[in-house]
Amino acid sequence: MINHLITQKNWQTQLSEAITSVDELLSILQLESMRAGVYVPKHFVLRVPRGFVAKMAIGDCSDPLLKQVLPDQQEQINVTGYVADPLSENTQNPVKGMLHKYQSRVLLTITGACAIHCRYCFRQHFDYSANMPTADAKEHIINYIKANPEVNEVILSGGDPLNVTNRRLFAWLDTLESLPQITTVRLHTRLPLVIPARLDTALLDRLSQSRCRIVMVIHCNHANEIDELTAEYLQRVRVAGVTLLNQAVLLKGINDTIDAQVQLSQRLFASGVLPYYLHVLDKVAGAAHFDSNEGAAIDLYWALLASLPGYLVPKLVRELPNKPFKVPMDIYNHS
Ligand SMILES: *Cc1c(COP(=O)(O)O)cnc(C)c1O
Ligand code: SF4
Repeated sequence: MINHLITQKNWQTQLSEAITSVDELLSILQLESMRAGVYVPKHFVLRVPRGFVAKMAIGDCSDPLLKQVLPDQQEQINVTGYVADPLSENTQNPVKGMLHKYQSRVLLTITGACAIHCRYCFRQHFDYSANMPTADAKEHIINYIKANPEVNEVILSGGDPLNVTNRRLFAWLDTLESLPQITTVRLHTRLPLVIPARLDTALLDRLSQSRCRIVMVIHCNHANEIDELTAEYLQRVRVAGVTLLNQAVLLKGINDTIDAQVQLSQRLFASGVLPYYLHVLDKVAGAAHFDSNEGAAIDLYWALLASLPGYLVPKLVRELPNKPFKVPMDIYNHS
């Protein structure tokens, strides 16, 4: 019942009422006994909307959704090889607010804000304030795209691009649609899982009317993130003519079992979403405890290939700086 009331609220209310207090979160989940092991960071603080918390199990300290958001003491441990900017992104933006790493597509960080703070996030140390597109940056971005005719797709990312108002988002869509070379606009967003009500009618109407093909790549790591209401919203996105894909991150203790991955793919497909990427963790400082070793990832992948139809097996990739695509893991060569 409480769950029902939370998720009926307007998305911006849900966004502003997100939990930022460790004590409140643990109290809702009846996990006060965990308090001593929890770390309270000064930057990239705890942030989780209540509707997402409602998908967690009461009293379960190893709930796969809780583990994605609850800061752990282990974040403070300095581990060799885990750095602030693992993808060297701070050096790959020719124009403020834009990354051009792969030939045919550019990625725009239209906001630094996210509805939820995922502890493994590779952008947790990214300097958004220095990289936000300001009003004149938009013009620079347009000029850059025009000067690079091989760009036919623009990815709106962040932060989370659905964290901005429809008005701001539609302004970006208008701009991109006015460029004849752009055939596809892609949204990389976690909001459909975190606050499904973000997928409001105005947004879906606007997407369905676009001149461009619209692709929405959601970010769901565990089947429990998709409850009935979420599935219903995702189906509406599909009905609006949007191609729905998922990218997940392989996370130790969260989704690194064959059961977890099979259930994730099946739940996604039941909601109209196809698996796209399964990312090996980017080696970002503070996230080493989520990293499963490469051999284990590849063993898991072989098991997935044997368990699922080909279209439900995501590509297992690692992102490396200075590579012209997300690099497939070499499943035939591992120790
Ligand atoms: C992930 C990413 C893309 C998209 O890559 P696809 O393989 O097309 O999904 C584009 N640009 C940047 C900078 C990225 O990190
Ligand atoms: S929603 Fe995406 S960008 Fe935001 S914290 Fe989570 S993983 Fe990072």
